Amino acid sequence: MSFTINSFRLDGRRALITGSGKGIGLELARGLGAAGATVVINDRNIEKARAIASQLRDEGLHAEFAVFDVTDREQVVDAITTFEAGTGAIDILVNNAGIQRRAALEHYDANDWHDLMRVNLDGVFYVSQVVARHMIARGNGKIINICSVQSELARPSIAPYAASKGAVKMLTKGMCAEWAQHGIQANGLAPGYFATEMNRALVDDQAFSEWLCKRTPAGRWGRVEELCGAAVFLASKASDFINGQTLFVDGGLTSVV
Ligand code: NAP
Repeated sequence: MSFTINSFRLDGRRALITGSGKGIGLELARGLGAAGATVVINDRNIEKARAIASQLRDEGLHAEFAVFDVTDREQVVDAITTFEAGTGAIDILVNNAGIQRRAALEHYDANDWHDLMRVNLDGVFYVSQVVARHMIARGNGKIINICSVQSELARPSIAPYAASKGAVKMLTKGMCAEWAQHGIQANGLAPGYFATEMNRALVDDQAFSEWLCKRTPAGRWGRVEELCGAAVFLASKASDFINGQTLFVDGGLTSVV
């Protein structure tokens, strides 16, 4: 079948985005929704999840919600099993929920290490595993794992975060190795620096901001909506032969020293 621009459309597909109550996740929900997908907002708080889904419907999108904490395997299994049986198939999964904890490595609190790994890595495993079982049964699915420039580059005070995002990049390749045969494409989307709540300390730090703008070939912070094109591409038929890759949306940061 020859290529048409409609290969990028997501009409009739349903996309679950973890941690989509704010920040990058919420913007990705808007982007996938604008391309025609029904988006499933995930948050740990039911009132917040319901309110955001309702807000997106007011914006003209198709939106539903699923409530779970990505670190609680039992909640994840219950919520996704119930959702698949009661509402319908999850065709696209975006593993977006993530946290940051900054401290010098030699003083890094072990509890902070475990909290960070539970959200950034265990959460990706738990949600992907249960969603993928349904995708495997259907013979198709798209998984987008939100990585980071820290999947490749370390920085002082965030070594555990870099370790978690490096692991997510490799888990993406593992998903490709095992699930490509079932019609699943798993790819990473790696943002550079975007001004969200996670980065508030950096946004407020003028010296960091000046350094970042010099360090980034584009000369500026990213705008969250600039992640949507890559997400739509990786969620769509247009990327059906792309698997196990990580696409950097970073204004060129990882291409230069
Ligand atoms: P954010 O504004 O802090 O949003 C993170 C989202 O994840 C929130 O909705 C949060 O919910 C949710 N979350 C946290 N723990 C969760 C859990 N256990 N279960 C379910 N949801 C949970 O951060 P962001 O900047 O949008 O980051 C989103 C993703 O992009 C993360 O994976 C991050 O590592 C990655 N990233 C961000 C940047 C950047 O420049 N901002 C760069 C590279 C990669 P609550 O509101 O309840 O806490």
